[in-house]
This record gives sequence, C-alpha cells and structure tokens, in this order.
Amino acid sequence: MPTHKLRQFRPMDKAKAEAWIAALAKDLKAFPPRLDWNPREKNGCYSFGTIHVGPRTWRGLDCLLHEFAHHIARRVPTPDEKMYGRGRRHHGPVFYACLLQVVDAAERLFGHEYDWLTEYRTLRKRRLTDRVVTRQKAAGSPQ
Ligand SMILES: [Zn+2]
Repeated sequence: MPTHKLRQFRPMDKAKAEAWIAALAKDLKAFPPRLDWNPREKNGCYSFGTIHVGPRTWRGLDCLLHEFAHHIARRVPTPDEKMYGRGRRHHGPVFYACLLQVVDAAERLFGHEYDWLTEYRTLRKRRLTDRVVTRQKAAGSPQ
C-alpha cells in the first residue's frame, strides 16, 4: 500500500456530504450552504452560498471542507482577499484561518484527518510553517 495520498481519488456520497454540511454549519454557527450535487464537478467550487461538488470531485470530502471554508470566509470583510474563484488571491490568510476552523471541526466531529498534501501550495506551505512554530513552542525554544 502506498503511504502517501497525493492525487488519490477519494469519493464521497451525497448523503454524507449533506450530513457533514449540516453538522459543520451547526458546529461553526453558520447558515448552512446549499449543496449542488453535480455529477460533472471534478474540482469543486463555491459560489454565492452554494457548494458545488459531486461523486467525481477528486478530493472528495476534503474538497467539501475547502469549499465550506469559503462559505465561512465570505462573512469576514476583507478588501485584499477575493472570496471566490481559484488560485492564490482567493486563498490568503483570511481563507487559511477559516479553513483551519473547518478542518478542526471535521476532526472533532468526524475524526477526519485533512489531506494537506492535496491543497494549494500556498496553503500547504502555511500549514507546514505553522507546524514548525507549534513544535518549537512545545519544545520551549525561542521563536
Ligand atoms: Zn478555494
């Protein structure tokens, strides 16, 4: 068995997607986003209150969590960070903070481990840096 999960297809089903959205919305005190269950959606996206994912979305539930973070992020007023679309400008510090909230909630609620390897590089790097800082703090070394 390969140990790394990079580019591994991780399917989800509609019932689970609905259940996760409901539970996450309750936990994070957010109005639940609508779910557009689209059989053609491979990358997943978020637009104006709706999460678009489906059985062929390659990151599966991790994609759902990512799009849910966009849903949370849109509540935060940020002139510098675009809330919609793909790429770096949509995935700055505000989005990252929201994603951490969602990832933490998914771990608490479902015991789900988020796959950072399949995230955008900019977010993956931010996460790596965070982990190093956390470890240094735990070890009591100067920052
Ligand atoms: Zn995104």
